[in-house]
Amino acid sequence: MNSIAQIKRIGVVTSGGDSQGMNAAIRAVVRTAISAGIDCYAIYEGYSGMIAGGELIRKMEWREVSGILHEGGTAIGSARSSEFRTRHGRRQAAANLVHNGIQGLVVIGGDGSQTGANLFRQEWRDLLSELVAEGNITPDQALAHPELAIVGLVGSIDNDMFGTDMTIGADTALHRIVEAVDAIINTAASHQRSFIVQVMGRHCGYLALMAGLATGANWLFIPENPPEPGWEEEMCAMIHAGRLSGRRHNIILIAEGAINRAGKEISSEYVSNVLLHRLNEEARVTILGHVQRGGSPSAFDRIMPTQIGYTAVHELLNYSSDREPRLIGVRDNRVYASPLMENVLKTRQVQDLIRDREYGQAMQMRGRGFVEAHTILNTLLRAQPRPSGPDTRPLRLAIMHGDAPAPGMNTAVRAAVRLGLDQGHTMLAIYDAIEGFARGDIREMNWTSVHGWVSRGGAELGANPRAAMEKDFPLIAGQIADHRIDGLLMIGGYLGYDFAYQLHSRRAQFPEFNLPILCLPATINNDLPGTELTIGSDTALNSNVEDLDKLKEAALASHRCFAAEVMGRDSGYLALMCGIATGAEYVYFPEEGIQLEKVRRDVLLLRDSFQQGKRVGLIVTSERADAFIKTDFVATMFEKESGGLLNVRHSILGNMQQGGRPSPFDRIQATRLAGRALQYLVEQVYRGVPVVGCLGRIEGKIEYTPLTNLPDLMQPGFQRPRDQPWLENQKIAVTMAEPPIS
Ligand code: ADP
Repeated sequence: MNSIAQIKRIGVVTSGGDSQGMNAAIRAVVRTAISAGIDCYAIYEGYSGMIAGGELIRKMEWREVSGILHEGGTAIGSARSSEFRTRHGRRQAAANLVHNGIQGLVVIGGDGSQTGANLFRQEWRDLLSELVAEGNITPDQALAHPELAIVGLVGSIDNDMFGTDMTIGADTALHRIVEAVDAIINTAASHQRSFIVQVMGRHCGYLALMAGLATGANWLFIPENPPEPGWEEEMCAMIHAGRLSGRRHNIILIAEGAINRAGKEISSEYVSNVLLHRLNEEARVTILGHVQRGGSPSAFDRIMPTQIGYTAVHELLNYSSDREPRLIGVRDNRVYASPLMENVLKTRQVQDLIRDREYGQAMQMRGRGFVEAHTILNTLLRAQPRPSGPDTRPLRLAIMHGDAPAPGMNTAVRAAVRLGLDQGHTMLAIYDAIEGFARGDIREMNWTSVHGWVSRGGAELGANPRAAMEKDFPLIAGQIADHRIDGLLMIGGYLGYDFAYQLHSRRAQFPEFNLPILCLPATINNDLPGTELTIGSDTALNSNVEDLDKLKEAALASHRCFAAEVMGRDSGYLALMCGIATGAEYVYFPEEGIQLEKVRRDVLLLRDSFQQGKRVGLIVTSERADAFIKTDFVATMFEKESGGLLNVRHSILGNMQQGGRPSPFDRIQATRLAGRALQYLVEQVYRGVPVVGCLGRIEGKIEYTPLTNLPDLMQPGFQRPRDQPWLENQKIAVTMAEPPIS
């Protein structure tokens, strides 16, 4: 069989509904292709552009995808094409691809677009025979294009596709929804109102569910899990009970595909009427609509599409005609390839299950994370303080922070406190971290103590980067005894982890320390062992990306370069990821250090680019990138070594990176981790096992890691873990930033 010897020319197309982050994928595909020495053509306006051909199929140059990372939508246009559904349309599209010498396609779109692409691929040989017979292409051209290689990337805000944990655009849509609901909560609380917010998701409740978890919604309707008959009464009872307990607002989230158990639509109007007639509550309805598709992509929706766009090109370069085409997505925090059509079929299967009212199976097919999020949300919205059961001993559990504040800390405390109270335990808050513990600033929390904390930035319990001192330990031992603390939950950064380790090391001296101690990772630096992601790092990344976008704008206006310094202590995570998300030219971070030779080389490359018409330059440095060379010096080097051609300013983003409302992802993570942590801690107390460890995300799963050997988990002399899988992104960052030298 004649097969593609080597792919030299590929096309990229965005099709179906647009979503934020598609531009990052296009940019990655174009730049990875050019770096690999192959041509990349953009097919404008989806499949209709493929059929129209001409100016709508154009070779892309490196510079043409500059300045699009921060834009929502797709720079090459998208469309729905009824013509592509016809064989005649697809034949014309095939002719245009052959005329342009395109051998492989990266298709960025939803399940419809992927189905179309697969059909096109299957028909390819026949279409080409027909084109030869018509005289539209020559037999030689047909021979040179024996088949069409395809690879799929999923662009969809709904997160409704199998084969990837996240679709391109879903995280940004969640940002838009959460921003809107946060704003609505302010006004709802002022007037003691109920709001019904309808979000997108015709077949998939992902956005509604995660937004519910991230905003502390009071009721949720999703297509996969319709409410039981009689839900109207139950919902009203819950809302009424909430009002009686002093809650000033109610938020009801409804996915646009919400149905009842009989498969009949539940509309926002219906829910609103139920509240009016049963509770005499005039609820306001907000239908969020297209704002969910809009706005600048989140950090995640720039980084993830860059990673999968990069991988998609390599997939085509390693194309094998005897393998089914694949979809490139992410699973368990890693790029993941799986058979394209199998995923499309499974995606449709869930829709069929919902149609056939097999809701239990539909939920199971959504996966573990979805089911767990649903269970936690249901527990949180139903939870209420109650005495513990007759067969369980009520516990006294304490929560504290350690190290600097991180967005999401309050969210985690709220979840842990409420879930603990719901089980009948006494929840104690240790204020002011280690210092407050020693001083005995310990207070009992009640249900309303954590009201509004789901979205609040900072750390209400107080967090500060102060390590434990020898004098603290006897005092802390006394406090544990006085307050009869059964288990300790530390939500914080390295100094908090170290504190847990120090307590463990002193158990012989202070028997009071023989209690289960569990740490949850919360720091913007993402520098902790036992987890690939810490609570707070996503918010910091988003905050930095917003600031760096502004710096880039200013740089563009004034033909300047900026060297921007971000936090991270000894970890370059924030710097590297910000660099990828904002399209920085160079990133200097502690794992690599700053070599003057490298800086000199970078300057010359940047100078050449400016001489060829480049107008903006961004260099990101990490606060401890090098022990001696600081950011201002890097800026000076760039200016001096470029012979004055580059005008470079430096800017230190500073402590604002630790503030701000937590991002949706950080809220969801904080809530899920806190839910698991509470459960784990309670189990250990009942079992009488004084564990000292942490819970974190490892390859996407929540895992326990003991901290009894904390120093061994760290790189000697540095505050960063031995294992840093994110470093793999360095090669992608370099590919995106450096055009090949011609
Ligand atoms: P999405 O890709 O977002 O699911 P659509 O389902 O509207 O969006 O599909 C986008 C385009 O993909 C359609 O307008 C059509 O051109 C093409 N397409 C979808 N399904 C098919 C199909 N079964 N056969 C051929 N082309 C299809």
